[in-house]
Amino acid sequence: AVPLVVAINTSTAAQNGMLIRDRIAMEEARNLDTVMFDKTGTLTKGEQGVVGIQTGDGWDEARALEIAAGVEGDSEHMIARAIRTAAEERGVQRASVSSFENLRGLGVRAVANGDTVHLGGPNLLEKLGIDRSDEFVSFADEAGSNAQTVIYLIRQESEVVAAFALADVIREESRQAIEALHSMGIEVAMLTGDSEDVAKAVAEELGIDQYFAEVLPEEKDTKVEQLQSEGKLVAMVGDGVNDAPALTRADVGIAIGSGTDVAIESGDIILVDNNPVDVVRLIRLSKASYRKMQ
Ligand code: ADP
Ligand code: MG
Repeated sequence: AVPLVVAINTSTAAQNGMLIRDRIAMEEARNLDTVMFDKTGTLTKGEQGVVGIQTGDGWDEARALEIAAGVEGDSEHMIARAIRTAAEERGVQRASVSSFENLRGLGVRAVANGDTVHLGGPNLLEKLGIDRSDEFVSFADEAGSNAQTVIYLIRQESEVVAAFALADVIREESRQAIEALHSMGIEVAMLTGDSEDVAKAVAEELGIDQYFAEVLPEEKDTKVEQLQSEGKLVAMVGDGVNDAPALTRADVGIAIGSGTDVAIESGDIILVDNNPVDVVRLIRLSKASYRKMQ
């Protein structure tokens, strides 16, 4: 009878928008204590747009965008796409750059007009040991309180010359998913490489129990491990390259279907419709199916 039940389960799963790559994980899903969500692209749509620009002395928006879009030219990151789009929308040509380098989880760097230029968030400022002038501090505070991600343009590893505020949109279904998980007695956590400010705002907005912010890509799986060491059975839901080790580490790895190939290959279950509510359906399906088997 076991294979039959699993077969029904698999086709029901398909009807519910999920693809099961690992049946054992599907069976474990009924006992989950905690669901950890990646923020960007998972709880949010990841379709970021530039909504504000602050420039330093001697810089204007066009010049800042020209350099920033040039430096982001070779990056596939959602942030890079947003900055290139902002430049295009304003009719600004991208500066040509050389020596492009991707600093995973921190940002990017390249050489533009003979200057070394970095683009990245607070993690990167800290890494380079750069202090922002007051205008950038207040710009970032304002943006952060609106859950906007701030990306800095840094010249010669010493000076912030511009900052960009990027707004993302929380998926409608995220709130629903979290409420339903809570009503099942499951704790909800969030993991992000984004700043403390943004993480806090999103966590509060969605009623998330616990969050980890400014987590470097290589640290994401250790946060899953941390919860597991507290005796919890943990699911991880993610979309990005950076989420792959955490998806593998989790007891149940759930990948967003529109996510990167690496994430999908690391997931036990794939959410075909990119809908966080399907995490709830998945757990219900697991409870219903495996109860029958016993
Ligand atoms: P998340 O975990 O939220 O999906 P990432 O780990 O991909 O985010 O990135 C973490 C942080 O690193 C971003 O919030 C941003 O500050 C910085 N960053 C990453 N890639 C870029 C880029 N291409 N341009 C600028 N900043 C970037
Ligand atoms: Mg992501």
